[in-house]
Amino acid sequence: MGKSGPCLGILRRDLHDILLDNLENIDFRLGTTISNCQQDADCVSVKFEDGELESFQLVIGANGPHSSVRKMTLGDIPIRRVGDLCCRFVIPRPRNLDDWTLYAGKQKQFLIVPMSETEAYVYAGRQAKATETLAKESFLEPFMDFPDQVSAICAEVNKNDLIWSPLDELQLLERWGNNRIVLIGDAVHAMPPFMAQGASLALEDALVLGDELSSRDNWDGMANVLTKKRRERVLWALERNRRREKLTNLPYWVSSLGLRLVGQKTWIEDYAPLAKRLELTETK
Ligand SMILES: Cc1cc2nc3c(=O)[nH]c(=O)nc-3n(C[C@H](O)[C@H](O)[C@H](O)COP(=O)(O)OP(=O)(O)OC[C@H]3O[C@@H](n4cnc5c(N)ncnc54)[C@H](O)[C@@H]3O)c2cc1C
Repeated sequence: MGKSGPCLGILRRDLHDILLDNLENIDFRLGTTISNCQQDADCVSVKFEDGELESFQLVIGANGPHSSVRKMTLGDIPIRRVGDLCCRFVIPRPRNLDDWTLYAGKQKQFLIVPMSETEAYVYAGRQAKATETLAKESFLEPFMDFPDQVSAICAEVNKNDLIWSPLDELQLLERWGNNRIVLIGDAVHAMPPFMAQGASLALEDALVLGDELSSRDNWDGMANVLTKKRRERVLWALERNRRREKLTNLPYWVSSLGLRLVGQKTWIEDYAPLAKRLELTETK
């Protein structure tokens, strides 16, 4: 892509530290949740789980794919189960790992991404055959016939360090909330990581929302403002993500031939619109 930065992994804990270090005068309440939120005339009434009621100028639902704020605001939205199981873990950074590296085989992918001088992140994904149920105990076994770098990682990893997830996709919503209740990140556009863009899009949502909040006096209709600003870019990522999902389900010889013939071109096309700088007030 030329102008974009390196592809790096980051621990959630480190991201939180970076965000927290840059916040001032914010009143935090951790370890709680809300049981209801409701759009009133010009504010949002929130009920906390301990029964306390409070009004806010704006509520941001950034609480992931199964967002309760989304449910309270827009009702039950179906989530599509794309894959039953994948796992992630952190390893000591292999000495010869210069950049992100993907190993792809028949119905299995193994991705290694540098995180720091000393650590790297691993994602292992498999597509189950129609008659197969993927089991955690034997999940990494099919990767033992990958090149030495991969089989050594699989042999050495402590199975207790693996983090398991299903892969889910939320249909893209027409409205990212309601008036002053705004949904961002996976709460509004959860998608499986075939494009590896979920967290990046979530961070972009936060940047754009922050920009809009600081440049407007009136926050009425903020959910619509964000929908307009963000939907097109997110829709692109979602559609390209679905194309990649189809690719993983093609017969192996078809997908590997396709990758060899048009892989690089498609890769550049996939990311080109996402590599464009966001238009924020301060960068205009
Ligand atoms: C296997 C896998 C691999 C991925 N790989 C990549 C990748 O390579 N690159 C990439 O960019 N993205 C990737 N993603 C996607 C990325 O993880 C998500 O898009 C990102 O975490 C979304 O951030 P979020 O803050 O919107 O939601 P989340 O990360 O889900 O955070 C939501 C937070 O809200 C909290 N919460 C939930 N409910 C409540 C409640 N009721 N009250 C209070 N708090 C609540 C949760 O505890 C959580 O801390 C991957 C996802 C998966 C599953």
